[in-house]
Formats: sequence, structure tokens, C-alpha cells
Amino acid sequence: MQIAVVGAGIIGAAIAYHLARRGAHVQLFDEAMAPASGVTGKAFGWVNLINGEPVSNYGSYRIRREGISEYQRLKAALPAALRDARPGSLVWRATSAETEALVRDHRAAGATMELVDSKTIAWWEPALRDVPECAAYSPDDLALDPAHLNRTFVDAALGFGARMNFGEKIVGLEAANGRVVAVRTAERAVSADVVVVAGGTSIDTLISPFGTAIGVESSPAVLLQYSADRPFLHRILNGPDLEVRQRPDNSLLVATGYYGDSEENGPMAIGRRMLDLMHRKFAMPEGVELRHAEVGYRPFFTDGFPRLGFLPGVDGLYVAAAHPGIILAPLLGRLATEEIIEGQRSSLMPWFDVQSHYTM
Ligand SMILES: Cc1cc2nc3c(=O)[nH]c(=O)nc-3n(C[C@H](O)[C@H](O)[C@H](O)COP(=O)(O)OP(=O)(O)OC[C@H]3O[C@@H](n4cnc5c(N)ncnc54)[C@H](O)[C@@H]3O)c2cc1C
Repeated sequence: MQIAVVGAGIIGAAIAYHLARRGAHVQLFDEAMAPASGVTGKAFGWVNLINGEPVSNYGSYRIRREGISEYQRLKAALPAALRDARPGSLVWRATSAETEALVRDHRAAGATMELVDSKTIAWWEPALRDVPECAAYSPDDLALDPAHLNRTFVDAALGFGARMNFGEKIVGLEAANGRVVAVRTAERAVSADVVVVAGGTSIDTLISPFGTAIGVESSPAVLLQYSADRPFLHRILNGPDLEVRQRPDNSLLVATGYYGDSEENGPMAIGRRMLDLMHRKFAMPEGVELRHAEVGYRPFFTDGFPRLGFLPGVDGLYVAAAHPGIILAPLLGRLATEEIIEGQRSSLMPWFDVQSHYTM
């Protein structure tokens, strides 16, 4: 089977890897010159269950939980993918009652999560100045480098014979007799029996000529990077106004929402305000500096469900998009491959139609 995958972000790369591993002839295309050039290269890298919604959206919570379990499979199959990944995160809300409810809801849904007290928090994270009364400790969470994981998928797909076409934008998809037959760049057309469209926020642009859309929204967020010369944070910390982690090279990453593009609300200004906030929150080493601030546009669906499956109306056209994509990519890579190669659709995935309506 000849399969063209459009988009070498984490989702397209995970699918290309699984397909190539199963013996499909895969060609992966990206308009950028390297993997992880889209929003994947701007992600924080938190693989977690705790931001899922066990009560208000149990269907998507179940998918997220499977997504995290899939990381155990990935660890066995591709150990290099999780190089430098660190486990564990501490999360607290504005009030202790809210934090307790958070732990209660997740535990009731079957998650491994503990409520830890202020003494434990202070012992674990001595740099915290303002220690909350309690926090949710999620031991199975991972902090990892999304770009490295993305590149590992691409390298592994190459190892299984996939072909990479970087610097090639897909400008159109060709169909004949009701089925997709090729992808087209400015210079050439490449035949395919199946086309997987994993182009993140630009998926609808590519599939709209077929009169269909998955309703992908573009949701901006900022990734801030700071230099630091020694370790002082040990887990991902997520409080009411800050989400931060320290990487193995001691640099700090902060992720936050992005609501405007005026200078005072631009990424660098947000980064400077966050640095002031971190000085108030932590006993930080001297000389921590803002190094980089960038906005990434997340492919987003308000109902919290991934879009993964063949589109109705034209045979052989498959779409793959999800938020949060780092958490779900290894799972979606496997499930897409099972569906494309074996015709087996996972019962985890809601069925969707042209209007993007899902039923569980
Ligand atoms: C600040 C921030 C923090 C985040 N933190 C997390 C987190 O902690 N955990 C988590 O799970 N998620 C997180 N995310 C979300 C995560 O980054 C995305 O869900 C994920 O990266 C989406 O991957 P993707 O492969 O769909 O998209 P992308 O990485 O954008 O990949 C799509 C690729 O398709 C290519 N492409 C598009 N159109 C074409 C075309 N016509 N021809 C050829 N190539 C094309 C693009 O160049 C791009 O490389 C975060 C995002 C941001 C911005």
C-alpha cells in the first residue's frame, strides 16, 4: 500500500512510524525543512492525565488515559524516544477544597493520584516560597522533549523504509472515481492509495476542495524559555497562575495562554512578567534570563475529541488531528495504522461525520 502522510509534526510522524513498521510504503511530506517545525516544536511537553476532564468529558478522558498508557509501549519499542523524560507533576488550585476535589474526581475515574500535604511539597520542592496547603501528585505524568520525540519517530520511520520529503508543500490532493489517488506539490504529483492529512491547523484548507471540514480551530499559546545554571525544580509544577518545569540542561520552560499581539501583550513582554512572577514564587538562582518566547498555534477542538479516521465522501482520505497532540500522538499513530492497514476501527474513537458530530 502506498501511503502519503502530509505533515511531519508529532502526529504525522507517529503515524508514518507505525505504518512503515507494519510494512506500508510511506512517503512523509512537510513544507518545512525539518520535523517538529510546526506547533510540536513549541510545546511544553507535559504528558498528563490531570488536565483531563474525568467528570465533564469522560469520553475524552478515557482516550487521554489510553494515550498515557501507550507511552509504556513506546518506551519498550523505541527507548530513545523518551531520553531525558522525567516523571511526576504537582498540581494545585486556588483553594485546598478545589485541589482535594481534583484528586477525588481523578481517583474516582481510576487514576493514580495522591493528595500530598504542604510538608511533603516543601520537602520535594524546597525552592517554592509560597507552599500550598496541599497538591495533587501525579506520579505517572511525564515531562519530555516533544521535538526529540518527533524526530525519533521520523528517524525510526526512515529505518523502516519510509521516504521523507521535507521542504515540499502539498498544494492539493487529487481524486479520481471517488477515491484519492495522489498528493500534489508545486512541481510534481505523487501517487498514493491512502493520503493521511496530519497538517495540524491547516487540515481544513487541504480537505475543503472535497466539500468537507473537521472544524479544526487554531488556539494560540506561548512557550517561554529561560536559562538557569543549576537545578532547583524537580517536577512539573502547575499552580493557578504558573506552569513551569526545568529541563535536564537546567533551562526553564513556561507555558501560558496568548491573548493578543500588542507590544505589551507580546510574547517577550509576557516572558518578562513571568520572570517577575517566578522570582516571587521561587528562590531562584542568580542570573535566570528570558531566552526565547514564541507563540504556537494548537489544532484545537472544543469538544475535546481527536479527529481520526477516513473522511466520508472520498475513499482513501484519512485525517488525524488532536489536542493535546503530544499526549495522544503515540496512541493515534497505532490506532490510525490499525484502521488503515487492517480496516479495524478502535472502539475508543467516536465515529464522526462531515459536520464533525461525534457520538460515543
Ligand atoms: C505553548 C504550548 C504548549 C503545549 N504543551 C503541550 C503539552 O504539554 N502536551 C501536549 O500534549 N500538547 C501540548 N501542546 C499542543 C501540541 O503542541 C499540539 O497538540 C501538537 O504538537 C500538534 O501536533 P501536529 O502534528 O498535529 O501539528 P504540527 O506540529 O503543527 O504539525 C503539522 C505539520 O504539518 C505541516 N504542514 C501543514 N500543511 C502542510 C502542507 N500543505 N504541506 C506540507 N506540510 C504541511 C506543518 O509544516 C507542520 O510541520 C502545546 C502547544 C503549545 C503552543
